[in-house]
Amino acid sequence: MGKAIFEQINGSFALVLVSNCGVISVENLCDLSCKLKEMKVPVVKLSSRQTLVVVGSSEQLQEVEKIAPGYGFKIGNFGTQVRNVKGCSAGEGLCKRQLDTALNLGIELENEYFGIETPHDFKIAVAGCPRGCTDPLCADFGVITKGKDKFDVYIGGRGATIKPIHATKIYNNISRENVKVALKHVLDIYIEEGNKKERIFRTINRIGIEKFVNKDVEENKKQHVDEDFLAFI
Ligand code: SF4
Repeated sequence: MGKAIFEQINGSFALVLVSNCGVISVENLCDLSCKLKEMKVPVVKLSSRQTLVVVGSSEQLQEVEKIAPGYGFKIGNFGTQVRNVKGCSAGEGLCKRQLDTALNLGIELENEYFGIETPHDFKIAVAGCPRGCTDPLCADFGVITKGKDKFDVYIGGRGATIKPIHATKIYNNISRENVKVALKHVLDIYIEEGNKKERIFRTINRIGIEKFVNKDVEENKKQHVDEDFLAFI
């Protein structure tokens, strides 16, 4: 719907920059930072949605908007669109608690769906274990890794409100590929059936959660070899 540029109380503006579930290369971070310093941008802030918020004058931010893609950033959005995806630190060889990588899945989903028009804002969160550092149960579409290529999917969560709602699980232990199929189906139904400005949890309450479940998506029963266990025996 719109670009995420917001006027602040003191008359300055804040521009939201998005990058791959919050992953920024050291080079891009360094180069953008030098550029902002050169432009005398006073401050940047990390948001709870893993974005980089640049605060400055309207003129400064118009310039930042132009140069940010050159440093690997997209301009944030707000309103009735799919937002940037929140992905936890479950990258290849990273968080010790992860049950499988999830960060790459989050980045794929963001690249595919960021900016798609929806009846209300649509937030996706992906976590590499049930600890859920990215709050997948508060997302419109939440993914929790349960094991090697096994993911649970939840829909209809809502956070950032005095009436939070925990999302409802719609799939157990589905494969990475099927998470993508599941998301496409949920978005197709939501876009088709959701009323204007209706958050998905309300659409679920109105038309039933069954419609959001793709019957072709099946549990991944494949047993994966545990390399550590094999090395141990
Ligand atoms: S959700 Fe789990 S895998 Fe992801 S960062 Fe948190 S503890 Fe690590």
